[in-house]
Parts: sequence; structure tokens; C-alpha cells
Amino acid sequence: MNTLERPNLTGVELLHNPVFNKGTSFTEKERDVFRLRGLLPPRVNSQEQQVARALESLRRKDSDLERYIFLMALQDRDEKLFYRLILDHLEELVPIIYTPTVGRACQEYGHIFRRPRGIFISLEDAGQVASLLCNWPYKDVRVIVVTDGERILGLGDLGADGMGIPVGKLSLYTACGGIDPTLCLPVTIDVGTNNEELLRDPLYIGRGHHRVCGPVYDTLINEFIEAIQGLFPHALIQFEDFGNRNAFRLLAEYRNKVCAFNDDIQGTAAVVMAGLHTAARLTRKSLAEQRYLFFGAGEAGTGIADLLVEEMKRGGLSEKAARGCCWFVDSKGLVVSSRHDLAEHKLRYAHHHPFVADPRSIIEAVQPAAIIGVSGQPGIFSENVLKRMGELNERPIIFALSNPTSKSECTAEAAYRCTAGRAIFASGSPFDPVVIDGQKFIPSQGNNVYIFPGIGLGIVASESRRVTDKMLLAAARTLAAEVTETDLAEGRIYPPLARIREVSLKIAVAVANEAYDQGLAAVPRPPNIASYIRAQVFEPQYTEYV
Ligand code: NAD
Repeated sequence: MNTLERPNLTGVELLHNPVFNKGTSFTEKERDVFRLRGLLPPRVNSQEQQVARALESLRRKDSDLERYIFLMALQDRDEKLFYRLILDHLEELVPIIYTPTVGRACQEYGHIFRRPRGIFISLEDAGQVASLLCNWPYKDVRVIVVTDGERILGLGDLGADGMGIPVGKLSLYTACGGIDPTLCLPVTIDVGTNNEELLRDPLYIGRGHHRVCGPVYDTLINEFIEAIQGLFPHALIQFEDFGNRNAFRLLAEYRNKVCAFNDDIQGTAAVVMAGLHTAARLTRKSLAEQRYLFFGAGEAGTGIADLLVEEMKRGGLSEKAARGCCWFVDSKGLVVSSRHDLAEHKLRYAHHHPFVADPRSIIEAVQPAAIIGVSGQPGIFSENVLKRMGELNERPIIFALSNPTSKSECTAEAAYRCTAGRAIFASGSPFDPVVIDGQKFIPSQGNNVYIFPGIGLGIVASESRRVTDKMLLAAARTLAAEVTETDLAEGRIYPPLARIREVSLKIAVAVANEAYDQGLAAVPRPPNIASYIRAQVFEPQYTEYV
């Protein structure tokens, strides 16, 4: 899907264009045709040599934030080299361009800012959002990641400095899903920030006022969504890192009107669903035979439970019985029906049970097979909690998903040590391998990157008009089916990241199939969906322009 094949630029302009620039890899002939003679050092390098040079410079940096800055500069300079480097070193570099380093980068965004990327829309742009979107240089946009910066990862309100997230997510759509970068548009809607530190910081990149909500906010979002429908009617819109008060509302408002999903709610749900399918292979119990205890009743937690309920219903359980398998803990304690302080999205999981406050007693009361940490509370899976999970279950399922690493509910080492290596463990941010009594465990990262690039590729290829639960469930089942017996033996419940392109392609096929089966696709069903999609995948290989 390399949409732009040949540059119509010459000289310095060509060297400064990241889509076409090939640095020292321009051939002798290209140097003549595109008037590059003298502007480049004489030796022509292969792309592999440039990758080696970039990697050497990158590894010389002494912090991950510096590595992030280096990679962003490379992306601005030479996109194909950037993506070649990322694809060849996924395990090493995804944690730099995405979580955990991207979180740190957003916290410092105003201080490390170099070149803009994406579209910034602020309250002052109300009434002219469409004309502002027309300034974007590419006219065929297929994937948009949009945030208002209110709840960046587990880090809170970072206002316009949250732009690092849409930029990073879209880099992953390309690196891991193979979506052409020119089809991707990062957007930040700047409605202010309630982060006082940022408001005091002269280098903050957003407007210096408090966050605006209510009808003014809703009108701006609606204008944005309508402008997208007019200008980029085939675009998938991914809502990203919106605060609770808006995330659920916006998803409910738009998911049945346009092609949109929320990755924090639905992407997380699908990746964790895949982890639970795989865990069920290890516990040898069906999904419906287990109890799930969620620590954190926010976007991630309720999103996972809602999808899990859908999957259990598909397996024949009633909605009531399926909900009965899912229990929640929020900042106050167990979510139960006698509480009067529960937000709307928690009510469907408020069971009739006496209120319990502390985590250890909650484990005793619920006796779960799985604890799923999406609370942003480091250490909440204490040794006591983990040990009790190990006593209650032959193979306890421990997912400590909060990001970044500093927010994780427990470390991988604690999960394995407290359960004598029996834990089925996944985390949100990466952990190093752990050795317990001579046995090595490779902790899995329940990273949404396993899901959204494949979903995006399937949606783009089929030009689906909606993102449905059936698509998310199909994506989760496909991902789980990619976990091999060897992966399981090593402690992995997700495939190695190195296989992500292959896995994303399979997810894309499953999602596109759903789009066709549900009558949502806007292009005719191809005879072979896999080869049709494969032919659209962006390969970051330099091509010869002449
Ligand atoms: P959120 O703000 O919507 O929800 C957080 C929830 O945690 C709230 O319901 C809050 O009441 C609850 N909470 C706070 N203190 C608690 C405590 N002491 N005990 C139990 N619950 C408590 O945030 P979210 O979008 O649901 O994300 C939560 C975390 O999950 C973040 O750290 C995020 O990075 C992580 N996450 C991970 C993945 C992944 O690994 N794939 C995906 C999405 C989110």
C-alpha cells in the first residue's frame, strides 16, 4: 500500500522529505536525475548499512528518552529507514517508541519538542475544523488516532503534550500492521489541561487554560467527527486516552454512527480476552468456569469484562450468569450493589455481596481464578495477595496491566516467586525474564499492539463502516490461536513480538471476514482475502525511483 511511489521533488527539498528521502542510499542514477550530486557524501550505502549506522548511534545514547528523541528525528528524516530499523528490532524498540518510554516523552513533550507531527485542534478552532484538516498534506487518510490528552497511559492529564500517544500509536499501525504511514493522521484536541504544573510551564505546547467540558467540548468533538466524515470518509477513528467521563460517552455516541473504536476500552479488552483464551488452555477450564476479579473499574477493566461477557454468552451462558463471573474492585473497595457511589459503567457489575475493602479480604471473599490489574496502583498485588492466589489455584492467572512499569500492580518476579512459578502472568509494560529455581520464565506483555494494528489493517482493507464486538472477538481468538506450545512452555501467553506482522495479517483477515459477513464492507469481497490484504501492506524497503 505504498501510495506515493515516485517523488516530484529534487535537491535539498527531496532530502528533507521523510517520505522519499533515502539518505546515502540514493543511487548514482537518482543523484543525477533528482539533482542530488554534491549534496550527499559520495559513497552510496545500502539500506542495511544505514540501519547499522542508525542502530549504532541509537545504542550509544545513555537513556531511553534520548533514544526516543533520536528515533523521532529519524522518523522526521527518513521514514523508510525508521520503519526498517523498528521492524528489524521490534523487541528492543517498541518499548522506546511506545510504552513505557512514550509516557516519559509525553511528560517532557514541551521540553523535547522538535518538529510538529499531526494536527492540533484547539477550542479557538471551533467552526473551522474542516479547513484546518485540509492543511494536512495527504488527502487519503485511513486511520486517525485522536486524544484530548486527559488521561495519558496511567499518567493523568498531560493536555496537548499527550500528542506523543497518537504519534506513537500510528507508528505501531505502520510498523506492526503494515499500514502506509501517509494514510495515518495523529490528532490532538486541545481543550486545555487541569495539570497545574503544565499550566505553569512556559514550554508547555498547549493552550494555557483549564480544561473545558460540557456543550462546548461536545460541539467541538462533533465538528471534528463530521469534518472527518466529509474529508476522509473511509477513515477509522481510534479514540485514545480520553478521561473516563468522556471515553465511555464518546464511544457510545459514535460507535454505531461512524467507523470508530476506543483502544483503551476495546483494544485492551481484545488483547486481554486473547490472554484469557490462552490461559484457559493452561488451566484446562472453560472461560465460564472461572471467576475474574478486576482491580480497577475504569475504561480498561469494564471494557475487558464487557467483551468477556460477550464471549461467554457466545459459549451459551446467560448475560446474568456471565456478568456474575466478573467482579470489580475500585479505589474504595469491592464493587457491590449496596454502594451508592458507583459510576454508571460500574453498576452492571455491582453484585449482591457484603462490602469488603482490603485486597486480601476481597480475594478471600471472591476466590477468583484470575486477578486483572488495571488500577494504576503499584504493588496492590502484594505478596499476601499473590500467595493466596497460588493457594487457591493450581495455575493462578495474574495480569498486572498498569502502565508504565512503575505503576504495575506487581512485578513479574513477585508473581512467579509467590506462586512457585505456577502463575500465568502478563503485564502491561515489559519485564525482563525471571529465573525461579533454575527455571526461566519469559513474562508476556499484554500489549494492545497485538490487536489494534491488525484490526486497523482489516478495517482499511475492507473499508468497513463500523468496528463491531464480533470483530474484536474474532481478533482475540485469532491472536490466541497464534500462541504455540513452545511459547506456552516458556511462560508466554502471547506470541513473540518478532512475529507481529504475520499475526497482524491473520487478525486483519479475521476482521475483514467479519466486515464482509456483517455486510459492513464497502469494497467487494476479494476471492482470497489474505493475499488481497498482503498486497496492501507497506514494506519499508527503499525502492529505486529511476
Ligand atoms: P481508568 O482511569 O479508566 O481506571 C482506573 C481505575 O482504577 C478506576 O476505576 C479507579 O477507581 C481504580 N482504582 C484506583 N485506585 C484503586 C485501588 N487502590 N484499587 C483498585 N482500583 C483502583 O484507567 P484505565 O484506562 O482503565 O487504565 C488503568 C490502567 O491500565 C492504566 O495504568 C493503563 O496504563 C493500564 N492499561 C493497560 C493496558 C494493557 O496493558 N494492554 C491497556 C489499557 C490500560
